[in-house]
Amino acid sequence: MSFQLDGRNALVTGGTRGIGRAIALGLAREGCNVVACYRGDEQAARRLEAELEGTPGKHRVVQADVSRPGDVDRLLDECRTALGTLDVVVHNAGAVSHVPFAELQPDEWHRVIDTNLTGMYLVVRGALPLAAEGASVVVIGSKAAMVGVPLRAHYTASKAGVLGLARTLSKELGPRGIRVNVVAPGIITTDAAAGLSEQQAQRYRSMTSLGRLGEPEEVADVVLFLASSRSRYMTGETVHVDGGI
Ligand code: NDP
Repeated sequence: MSFQLDGRNALVTGGTRGIGRAIALGLAREGCNVVACYRGDEQAARRLEAELEGTPGKHRVVQADVSRPGDVDRLLDECRTALGTLDVVVHNAGAVSHVPFAELQPDEWHRVIDTNLTGMYLVVRGALPLAAEGASVVVIGSKAAMVGVPLRAHYTASKAGVLGLARTLSKELGPRGIRVNVVAPGIITTDAAAGLSEQQAQRYRSMTSLGRLGEPEEVADVVLFLASSRSRYMTGETVHVDGGI
């Protein structure tokens, strides 16, 4: 099935590593023009630029911290200059850490909430003036928000907030023809999951029906579907990509 995304314009936050990289490359290989942003890993940014070279559309890889309003304004200026309008906005950039709730300091609380939730607010609100007819917004949530996970109070709170914000936006922006959906991954083999011990990885594998962790491309495929008009009657939805946890 073709996603028919050829010539569409897309913004992917956190597009240089892990799930975001798979999304940016997936969209670009489908023929999208892609602007991807990252926070600070220059090496990963240059690697993505080289990978995007082989794809048909235009592309830009831009340093911009989604938790900083000035950076988001600059990012959207880049989108305006490079692409004009946006058909697809993917807020994927995410921060996580593992801290007992009693020891969770305000700085760390704000770092995670500001990236995952405030970042979504800043990016989606800022993108609205550029949104093309039938634009699709896809936000990467997390299974963790549904089940609760010890040591991740800030993370699960931010991802639960993402769900509420996405549902509200689907209602508020639906009349303008803009769809807003969430993809909620389970445990995916990215750098964020690289810190797992073999024992933890085995425990997580055994929690899934499929008996394995997910690959970034398996999340990206679902994002591509939601980004495309193949999903044109879906909005306010959360799609779980978790191997059946
Ligand atoms: P990675 O840590 O592998 O990659 C994160 C990407 O986001 C990098 O490109 C990073 O840039 C960028 N980024 C981080 N913070 C910011 C910021 N403030 N502004 C701009 N870019 C930023 O993460 P994953 O691929 O694992 O996760 C991607 C998304 O999926 C996140 O929202 C995460 O919460 C969610 N998720 C992941 C799961 C998993 O198991 N991996 C499970 C469930 C949800 P740089 O490298 O420059 O810092």
